[in-house]
Amino acid sequence: MNRGLLIVYTGNGKGKTTAAFGLAFRALGQGLRVCILQFIKGPGKCGELVSAELFKNRLECHTLGRGFTWKSENLAEDIRLAREGWTLAQSLIATGKQDLLILDELTYLMKYDMVPASEIIPALKNRPPGLHLIVTGRDASPELIEAADLVTEMRAIKHPFDQGIQAQKGIEF
Ligand code: ATP
Ligand code: MG
Repeated sequence: MNRGLLIVYTGNGKGKTTAAFGLAFRALGQGLRVCILQFIKGPGKCGELVSAELFKNRLECHTLGRGFTWKSENLAEDIRLAREGWTLAQSLIATGKQDLLILDELTYLMKYDMVPASEIIPALKNRPPGLHLIVTGRDASPELIEAADLVTEMRAIKHPFDQGIQAQKGIEF
């Protein structure tokens, strides 16, 4: 029996988003239908999004408008975008068209109170029974951890940025 899992990749170490994309790659190989929703947009087009286009018949990808940051001067606009993203996430959860849905950087919506956790957590819990959900982002709340079936914390031990090594193509973007 197919049981949809709630999977959380959190922590300060590098590897959360790429772990989620790694599972997407595995799931695609097993014929699963995958959807990725990115709440925070990077400055350029990351390699993984270029690769995603190669699978476009079975992999749906969404990136929020200009994305949002939590350092923006226009907080009202950020909240509007976060809400818009969450509305899309809810409809993607509800359609039942996907086998695996990745909500990349969703934790920040809760951390910065852009969308109340009291709204997000029940929606994640009440996903269709066969849907696997992956949530990534730092600072997963105790409630999210409680709701999840699988939680991995990426713990930073070393990062090249700490030694002043610049972002490397294919590793960071
Ligand atoms: P990746 O997308 O490579 O899997 P991530 O999703 O775990 O990384 P985020 O928390 O989303 O990382 O942060 C995005 C950016 O921050 C990445 O460019 C990443 O390399 C960088 N980063 C992650 N961990 C650290 C760290 N411990 N020190 C410095 N920079 C970091
Ligand atoms: Mg990430």
